[in-house]
Amino acid sequence: MTALNSSATDLSERISYRHRYFDSPEELLSEILSKSVVPYQVEVQPGRIKGKKICWMECPYCYGLSSENTDERLTPDRYLELMHQMANGPNGNVHKIIFAGYATDPLNYEHIDDIVEAAISNRQIVGFHSKLLKVSNRLVDLMTSVKTPQTSYLTVSVDAGSSESYNETHDLTRSSNVYPRVLRNIKRITEQRKSNGTQLDIAANYLITRVNCSSKEITDGIENLISAGVDAIRFSFPQLPRGTETVDGTIMPTRAEVEEIYNRILPIVESYKSASTNVILMDYDRDNQIDLRRTLPCFARFIYPAISYDGYLSNCSQSGAAHFKNMALGNLQHRDFWDAFYDYDASDFWGFLDRQHDKMIANDCRCDRKEHTTNRMFRDLYETKTGAALR
Ligand code: SF4
Repeated sequence: MTALNSSATDLSERISYRHRYFDSPEELLSEILSKSVVPYQVEVQPGRIKGKKICWMECPYCYGLSSENTDERLTPDRYLELMHQMANGPNGNVHKIIFAGYATDPLNYEHIDDIVEAAISNRQIVGFHSKLLKVSNRLVDLMTSVKTPQTSYLTVSVDAGSSESYNETHDLTRSSNVYPRVLRNIKRITEQRKSNGTQLDIAANYLITRVNCSSKEITDGIENLISAGVDAIRFSFPQLPRGTETVDGTIMPTRAEVEEIYNRILPIVESYKSASTNVILMDYDRDNQIDLRRTLPCFARFIYPAISYDGYLSNCSQSGAAHFKNMALGNLQHRDFWDAFYDYDASDFWGFLDRQHDKMIANDCRCDRKEHTTNRMFRDLYETKTGAALR
C-alpha cells in the first residue's frame, strides 16, 4: 500500500470527519475558563451585496434554506479589519480560515478575492467549500500560489453525474448547462496547481439524492471528477435541513432508500480503490448512530465560530443566519472579533452554556456531522461537572 503524505492524510481525515480540533476536552475547558482559548478555525460566510438573493441557487437539501436575507452586510473594508484582528489575537492567532456558506456560497461574494488574499498574506491555512459556478483568474492564482500554506484545500459540492441530474438536484431549469462549467472550473484549478507544482488539496462532495443515485450516474460522476483531476470524492447522504420535518415529498432519500442505495453503489465505489483519486462512500449517521437534530453540550463557539453573511459572529457554521441572532457572539459591524469571542460568563460557565442551549433548542439549530462528532466528546465532561443529564 502506498504511504500517504501528510497533506493526503489531512485530506482523508477531514473528508471522513476524523479530524481532531483539540487535544482533550479537559484541556480545552481549562483554556475556556481562563479565557485564553483560541478557535481552531473561523468560518467566513460572506454574503453577496448586490441583488435580492444571497446564494446563486436554492438547493432543496440546503442547510440554510430557511434563512432570510436581511440585507445587513459587513463592508469590504470591515472584512479586512476583521481578518487582521483574527491574525493578531491577544492569546494567539487563528491559524485556519474556512470560506463557506450557510444559505450562501463564498464565491458568489463580490470581494472574496481580497479576503482570501488577506488570509494567505497572514499565512493562514485556507479552506474553501463552494459549488464553483464561477471563479476569477485572480483567485485561481492565489489558491495555487506557492505562498498558500500546505493543507489548504478546496471542496466542491458537485452532487451529480450529468447535466440532467445536476439541474434536478439544484432546482435549475432543464436547459441549464452548469454541470460542465463546474467540471471545467475544477480542471482549470487542478491544471494550474500542476503547472505551479503546488499542493492545494482538491476534493469533490457528492450528496446522494433520489435523482442522482442510479448506478450510471454514480459511475459517470466518478469518471468525470477523476478526469477533472480531483484528489478525493466523498459520497454521502443529505441531512434533514432546518425548516424541514420529513424527507417525504423531497428529493432526499428515506432511511430505507439510503440502505438500498448504499448497498448497490458500494461495489462501484470500491472498484475505484486503486485509482489515484480517493473515492469514499459514507453512511455516517448509521455508522455513528446520529439521529438527533443537535448534540449538546455545544462547544462549537470555542472551536469553530463563523462570521455569518449578516456580519454576526455566530456560534457555528450551521447557525450563521439572521434567525439565530439571539445566540450569536456579537455583531461584528460594531464589535471587534476578540471582544465578541471572549464575551461569555466564565464564572458561571455551565449556567451560561445551559442558557445558550435553551436558545439553540428554541431556534431549532441542527448540527452538521463534524459538530455532532465534536460535541459528543464533551458529554461525559458536562455530566460530571454539572451532575445533570443532557437534554
Ligand atoms: S447547530 Fe450544533 S454546533 Fe451549531 S449551535 Fe446548534 S448545537 Fe451548537
